[in-house]
Amino acid sequence: MYDLIVIGGGPAGIFAAISAKENNANLRVLVLEKSQKLLYKVLLSGGGRCNVTNGLFNPMDLIKNYPRGQKELLGPFYQFGPKDIIGWFEENNVKLKKEEDGRIFPVTNRASTIADSLLLRAKLLNIEILKNQDIEKVYKENESFKVFEKDKIFISKKLAIITGSSAKGFEFAKELGHSVKKPIPSLFGLNISKFTLKDLSGVALKAKIKIKGSNFSQKGDILITHFGFSGPAILTLSSIAARYLFDKNYKAELIVNWVPGLSEDEIFKKLKNLKNKKFQKTLFSENLFHLPKNLWIIFLDSFGETFNKKLKDIPNNFFLILSKKLSSDSYTIDGKTTNKKEFVTCGGVELKEVNFKTMESKICKNLFFAGEILDIDGVTGGFNFQNAWTTAYILGQSI
Ligand SMILES: Cc1cc2nc3c(=O)[nH]c(=O)nc-3n(C[C@H](O)[C@H](O)[C@H](O)COP(=O)(O)OP(=O)(O)OC[C@H]3O[C@@H](n4cnc5c(N)ncnc54)[C@H](O)[C@@H]3O)c2cc1C
Repeated sequence: MYDLIVIGGGPAGIFAAISAKENNANLRVLVLEKSQKLLYKVLLSGGGRCNVTNGLFNPMDLIKNYPRGQKELLGPFYQFGPKDIIGWFEENNVKLKKEEDGRIFPVTNRASTIADSLLLRAKLLNIEILKNQDIEKVYKENESFKVFEKDKIFISKKLAIITGSSAKGFEFAKELGHSVKKPIPSLFGLNISKFTLKDLSGVALKAKIKIKGSNFSQKGDILITHFGFSGPAILTLSSIAARYLFDKNYKAELIVNWVPGLSEDEIFKKLKNLKNKKFQKTLFSENLFHLPKNLWIIFLDSFGETFNKKLKDIPNNFFLILSKKLSSDSYTIDGKTTNKKEFVTCGGVELKEVNFKTMESKICKNLFFAGEILDIDGVTGGFNFQNAWTTAYILGQSI
């Protein structure tokens, strides 16, 4: 009989097993992984570089990056946060570096550095790991758990279900008495119907974005792509509005303010001032709001000949129309495109049913959860792995 069986050989599963053995070397710990590759998502992550965590060390700042799980993660982050996982990797001979935007990567820029160090540590701690074990069923009998693979049964005193967003993991949780919030995607780009800016694919700029008729808005970098919009602010918007957009079948209006610091009125005033000062010039020559040149030209061209004239010959009401376009440009969202560098599931095991001091179920004694199976997800920037490290660490310590 094992002391602990972990179902799932992802980052949270492997790290939970490590944490348990680092805390008590005498435990018999087994990790069961469905596929033949351990830490599969780590290897894919961050475009192959693995964005391990984020340089936001203050838990109060850190939690703001979790549309779901904010309240529950505060205490755990004080116990084991980004500084701790950085320290852990350093102790295990992995040097990490912080990029300008706060994201933290291995200095090698290779996700395999992270995966290798976790697996080496697991080996040194004598953690048993079995691959190709597609667990089909689990149940609790008296004081132990029975874990069924096609033709094997494993028995343990404690069970950790750390299966990420896999449907089977959610089924196991439900069978053991838990409620699961419907899993849906988070962190995606927005497809725009009849996208007029597709020729500008690759252009990045700051903007303020909002989903019309909702309170969901963001300010930050957006990226114009051939299908619509992506980039950090769009991904964050997709995360905070994940359930809203899902319910609307990814059909909504996106309102973009291309001059994020200014309102429609302020834009109008600036245009009028320009007309007074530089009346012999045209708007094409004066890129008043410092927009990428091609974007500015596309906007002005969209009004036909209107803005080809000298400023003195343009009536003020045309400036009103342009101010409206710049401050609340409207695009029809008609779908989503998965972000290739990082994506995550919104939904999972209900947080109120888990004790975040131990990661033990409040419903089924000796059952534990960590990582993405929980109804926790972060925006991009290393926050999803930090959830995995933190919850797995606490789980392991409490075994
Ligand atoms: C392409 C991509 C890139 C990403 N990049 C980043 C990044 O750079 N930074 C970041 O913070 N986050 C990133 N993420 C998110 C991050 O990978 C996840 O949040 C994280 O992997 C969750 O860890 P986990 O261990 O909870 O789940 P997972 O990594 O999903 O691991 C769960 C494991 O359980 C196994 N399993 C499932 N069902 C069974 C079963 N029935 N029996 C046995 N085993 C089972 C699965 O095969 C899997 O190995 C990325 C995600 C993707 C998809």
